[in-house]
Amino acid sequence: MIETRVCIDDTFGPYDAKLDPANLWNGFLAPHFTLDTVKRMSARTIEMAEEECGYTAIPTIHVLEGRADSPSSVHVIDGGLDRDGHPRRISAHVRWELVDQNPDRAASILKAQPGAEVDATEPAGEGEYRAVVFVMDWQCWDDVEPGEQAGGVYAPDDEGRYAVGAWSWCWSYTSWWCVCGRDQYWHETECLCGLTRGAQPKTPLAIATERAGQTLRTLAPEATSALVDLTDLARVCEVYAGDTELDTADDTGPFDTETLGAADRILRDALDDADSADLEAAGWEHVPDEESARLYRITFPAPAAH
Ligand SMILES: [Zn+2]
Repeated sequence: MIETRVCIDDTFGPYDAKLDPANLWNGFLAPHFTLDTVKRMSARTIEMAEEECGYTAIPTIHVLEGRADSPSSVHVIDGGLDRDGHPRRISAHVRWELVDQNPDRAASILKAQPGAEVDATEPAGEGEYRAVVFVMDWQCWDDVEPGEQAGGVYAPDDEGRYAVGAWSWCWSYTSWWCVCGRDQYWHETECLCGLTRGAQPKTPLAIATERAGQTLRTLAPEATSALVDLTDLARVCEVYAGDTELDTADDTGPFDTETLGAADRILRDALDDADSADLEAAGWEHVPDEESARLYRITFPAPAAH
């Protein structure tokens, strides 16, 4: 099992999960989620059903909470309107004393008869916390017979995680984008360029600094830092590989004016909105100089030794 992040298209997630990468269903993942994550997923499915796409467009996740020594409880859950315009309603009957041994049998999730009143009863007791997790697929509402289990109950795994939607929903890995433009799966924390997921530049100026460095490195891969003059429009005036200054002249050095100009533009765009605190946060180092009072050294992380 690996720890990663998963989502369904761009519409649901990302959520932290553990999963076995080899355990696939039609190419989709079988993630296991903590109860806290399941609660967040539950709130999101209900929000989507209520406000965005309706109950027939998304199965809703439900988490019922109680105590191991609670008397049975009854929960009433609404699911929009059926195709004849009648309210869809289920009653979930939980026998809390059965939850540990047999979560499936502990919860009866039944269609409530139209028009019939269902009395909800709250869980009680003071014993250990317990939860029942189930999914209601409202799209299948008309196929469910009265008295038949209407929801899919999930039992926790050995770590108390729930494999909600595993082997039925289209779970995929969430990607993260490196500042260099490559994307990789969430658990692949090091990019081919050598930057890790955690070391990604965060501010617009830090991102621009990294991009400017990449631009210079397209022609001089050995470049590690540059001096930028902010006296007028920002301009890269010197480029270094370690302590060695690289020739920035158009016809003799590794650079051409287009590439240097591209690096300048990347920095200028980000500098428009930047103040001195942003310069410091992006690692810009003021270099005292007699001619220009506004000379800064920017450094680029060393490329990975791949
Ligand atoms: Zn990268």
